[in-house]
Amino acid sequence: MLKIDNLHARVEKEDILKGLDLNVKPGEIHAIMGPNGSGKSTLGHVLAGRPGYTVTAGSVQFLGQDLLALETEERAHLGIFLAFQYPVEIPGVSNMEFLKASVDAVREYRGEPALDSISFMKRAREICKTVDLDQAFLKRGVNEGFSGGEKKRNELMQMMLLEPKLAIMDETDSGLDIDALQVVSAGINAMRSPQRSFILVTHYQRLLNFIEPDFVHVLSGGRIVRSGDKSLALELEEKGYAWLEDVA
Ligand code: ADP
Ligand code: MG
Ligand code: MG
Repeated sequence: MLKIDNLHARVEKEDILKGLDLNVKPGEIHAIMGPNGSGKSTLGHVLAGRPGYTVTAGSVQFLGQDLLALETEERAHLGIFLAFQYPVEIPGVSNMEFLKASVDAVREYRGEPALDSISFMKRAREICKTVDLDQAFLKRGVNEGFSGGEKKRNELMQMMLLEPKLAIMDETDSGLDIDALQVVSAGINAMRSPQRSFILVTHYQRLLNFIEPDFVHVLSGGRIVRSGDKSLALELEEKGYAWLEDVA
């Protein structure tokens, strides 16, 4: 599904990713952990095609296509979803409108008919229940005055509506209390399927108590310096990242 080879990328003339390799197969969940500033969010932005990130070497194949040659929107239409750590506010546009427009665009790209408003509302309301968001939320402006927990639930709702092939969740667990964490984890688990893959960027092991990853990788200094199964996350929790620095 996703094959990253020797990826180098820079932001503002600074090299951030320095030879990153990652191979994600359909249905797999890969957790990416690592110290602050190691390039985890940069990886997500580069994959999603966010402006300001320059790839200087390496390649990324997504579903057999050269991902780096595609525009941001095309990548989303092709099935890449990036949940941002700090989503932007779009005053004057309701959540509902924003979500419907995103879903319409993806369905059009896939050659599927647009959902009528009633079916869309029905699905959106169902998801509100699943992610434990009040339905009044749908009428509010995009990200307007959302609490930290609401932002995370909103990201999850977007993901559930868009049904991506590859979902990249960047610190979806940050700032969530244990109840919210369980809701968010249950939502992600409900979306697991043999066709859908996840990259979960997380600082803490605790998310992985609720979502069992197939692989855990440590990103340090712009490269993956260690890969393992979920026991690696426990080892990191115990020892911190410093013990890996010699490797990096
Ligand atoms: P992580 O998500 O692992 O904490 P980031 O990918 O956010 O790390 O950042 C990696 C490095 O890139 C950091 O040193 C950070 O300061 C730098 N960086 C990220 N975004 C920018 C930017 N827009 N301008 C300049 N430097 C940036
Ligand atoms: Mg950070
Ligand atoms: Mg980050």
